[in-house]
Amino acid sequence: MITINKKRFKEHFRRKMNNLYAQTLEEASNEELFNVLCYVIKDMISKDWEGSRIYQEKAVFYFSIEFLLGRQLKSNLLNLGFEDTIRQGLNELGIDLDEIVESEPDPALGNGGLGRLAACFLDSMASVGISGHGYGIRYKYGLFEQKFVNNSQVEVPDNWLINSSYSWETVRPNRALLVKYEGKINMEKDDEDNLKVTHKDYIPVMAMPYDIPIIGYGNECINTLRIWKSEIPTRDFGKSSSYAKNQAASYEDALKYKYYAEEISQTLYPNDSNYAGQLLRLKQEYFFVSAGIQDIFRKCRRYKITTQDLPNKIAIHINDTHPALCIPEMMRILLDEEGLSWDESWNITIKVMSYTNHTILCEAMERWSEDIMKKLLPRMYMIIEEINKRYVNDLRKKGYSEEKVKRMAIMYDGEIRMANLCIVSSYSINGVAQLHTKLLKEEVLNDFYEEESYKFNNKTNGIAHRRWLISSNPELANLITKLIGNKWIKDTSHLKELEKFVDDENVLNRLEEIKFNNKVKLANYIKENNNITIDPNSIFDVQVKRLHAYKRQLMNILHVLCLYHEILDNVDLELDIQPRTFIFGAKAAPGYYLAKCIIKLINCVANLVNNDPRVKGKIKVVFIENYGVSLAEKIIPAANVSEQISTTTKEASGTSNMKFMMNGALTLATLDGANVEIYQQVGKENMFLFGLSAKQVLDYNKYGGYSSKDLYHSNKLLKRVVDDLVNGFIPGLGKEGREIYDALITYNDEYFVLRDIDEYADAQQRISNLYKDKIKWNKMSLINIANSGIFSSDRTINEYIEDIWFKGCDEDVQNNII
Ligand SMILES: *Cc1c(COP(=O)(O)O)cnc(C)c1O
Repeated sequence: MITINKKRFKEHFRRKMNNLYAQTLEEASNEELFNVLCYVIKDMISKDWEGSRIYQEKAVFYFSIEFLLGRQLKSNLLNLGFEDTIRQGLNELGIDLDEIVESEPDPALGNGGLGRLAACFLDSMASVGISGHGYGIRYKYGLFEQKFVNNSQVEVPDNWLINSSYSWETVRPNRALLVKYEGKINMEKDDEDNLKVTHKDYIPVMAMPYDIPIIGYGNECINTLRIWKSEIPTRDFGKSSSYAKNQAASYEDALKYKYYAEEISQTLYPNDSNYAGQLLRLKQEYFFVSAGIQDIFRKCRRYKITTQDLPNKIAIHINDTHPALCIPEMMRILLDEEGLSWDESWNITIKVMSYTNHTILCEAMERWSEDIMKKLLPRMYMIIEEINKRYVNDLRKKGYSEEKVKRMAIMYDGEIRMANLCIVSSYSINGVAQLHTKLLKEEVLNDFYEEESYKFNNKTNGIAHRRWLISSNPELANLITKLIGNKWIKDTSHLKELEKFVDDENVLNRLEEIKFNNKVKLANYIKENNNITIDPNSIFDVQVKRLHAYKRQLMNILHVLCLYHEILDNVDLELDIQPRTFIFGAKAAPGYYLAKCIIKLINCVANLVNNDPRVKGKIKVVFIENYGVSLAEKIIPAANVSEQISTTTKEASGTSNMKFMMNGALTLATLDGANVEIYQQVGKENMFLFGLSAKQVLDYNKYGGYSSKDLYHSNKLLKRVVDDLVNGFIPGLGKEGREIYDALITYNDEYFVLRDIDEYADAQQRISNLYKDKIKWNKMSLINIANSGIFSSDRTINEYIEDIWFKGCDEDVQNNII
């Protein structure tokens, strides 16, 4: 058990400051104080971290190209149970813990939901106590920092590695590995007629591991997130390759080589659910996959795990298709290094691999050209080709039409389809919410579902309630514990007991007071950072998430314009409008022009509305710069309304919807993604639903029948706001308005913004009406919190453990081994 004693902590803290910086506490900056505290905590956990490395049970390795960790200090203190002691100890040293918390860098090694999910899963794997570890990339630059200049997004490099290091990490040079690119593959038969494969003239890149401890809640379990940095090989490795030696020939070539290697872990691709087709991206994917799989084999050899026993000892999870090369890489090691036959290698591989699909957007489906794969990763290409050949043969043997074989093939028309590779080679394929999984089964992956239905399952996403409630909303967490005891912290299903208080006015008032306090805190933040004054008595109506057309921030801001017109039309009437603050936070991928136009529109509308005296502060629009995990932790506890308004069928799950619900916001939503599960928990009377159903959207997509032009011409109010985009009504908006207008009218409004906006406005009106009845509102808020327990990622992880990782592959899979 890791324990802490205030006196010893203070001594340790002083000593560490002296060791690291040779200065007194008084001389230290907040950043230095953070570093010292971080090292003190690492010292305290080091024994348990080492101990967790011993593999007594099955280990899970979660491969993800993104881990959006956020700050670690508070969540580590919470999980270790140290917060109070350390706060007091620091206090006695004249140091404020909250200030140190704010000086921690926020590692943004992810774009949005997918990366954040991976981080929540790490927290939950450690907290439920399994040996579950992450593999990823240590990007030198994470997601860009967003600034607004003249209302437009400007991207600034994110320099999270101040002085090239991060205090939570530990670098382990003795565990560096070599990843091989390009070159030629040689196949020879040896004397005993065994095929011997050698990789010649490759370009070697060294993968240097950096370990970050992942601390479980109250259980001594400390797992590891291992992220790899790319470098040119050090001398020991260099000897093994002729390439490195040749590069030493000229200084210029040596520099080129250094650039080639270091570029790989240089930057995170800032695309969110867009397929990045660049060669560098493929290098990145193979880089962390090859290092990770080699690392797993090294551990297995050390613990004398036989290849046959691998499926009992390890589970490898592929988070979306970016780590799909785990499959051929594992095959490569089993075939070329372990000397197993194809069938033996295949039977092991498909009992180890499981895969999560995260999106049905076509543009996000990864495909690589065969030529690129062949040149960059020749051995991977050969193995994928063989997997495909055997699979396609099998399909043909079953008598399927060529059309169907074409659709299901892994390689077709010069391209490699990574999702198909994952489906064919995994024992489990899961979607991330009920509707999403249903769409996978019935639409997008229907061919595969008909073929191997037993592989498909749903795992509705979840969130780390420790970070998203306990740590970010301590007042609410304390109230809950006061009311129902603390069992809910380990098992969130106990939150349900809050329903007992649904008619208790004291509790409801206290709930309102806590929300109000959080709103005041956020208002202060916005005053300081955006210099906008907002009224904590207004409804805080929040949409924070990546900017994407399918998420429909556009519908939200067009509705704000409608309200603005309504106020202007009735300027003399003193409309009885419930005051509202519309809060946005969103980054757009730098190359996604329409998304950037929408950012500009929101900023321009904000200026227009916020500065018009006729509005009398009834509505305000605030776009908070640089949305990320740390901001989310401030914004979400302060929200009254959670905007989850994606075009139905497009949002696979969403997770911010869960964060808001757990913090007592009411959800304004389409029945998309995990909003369906929220609806199942609280019923339509405790949320605000609107919009096209999944079936209606699918039918429009299949059979047509939607014309945004017709709507535009038949609905005057709609026409007015759409015309605002291009008639100069919105100062500062230029050609961006035309771009948006064209998306809506010329290109027939792909995401049904104009089709859904009337119903959306009605739902917003219902919200305004309800907010007047504070008791009713607070009741609904309480019911939402009480029923948010299933959205803890502990629940999700327990399902992965039971149905996927520890169950391994079931008999159906075993019987269907090719
Ligand atoms: C939770 C979270 C997301 C995901 O938001 P969605 O609304 O589900 O897309 C994105 N970014 C950050 C910083 C988050 O914390």
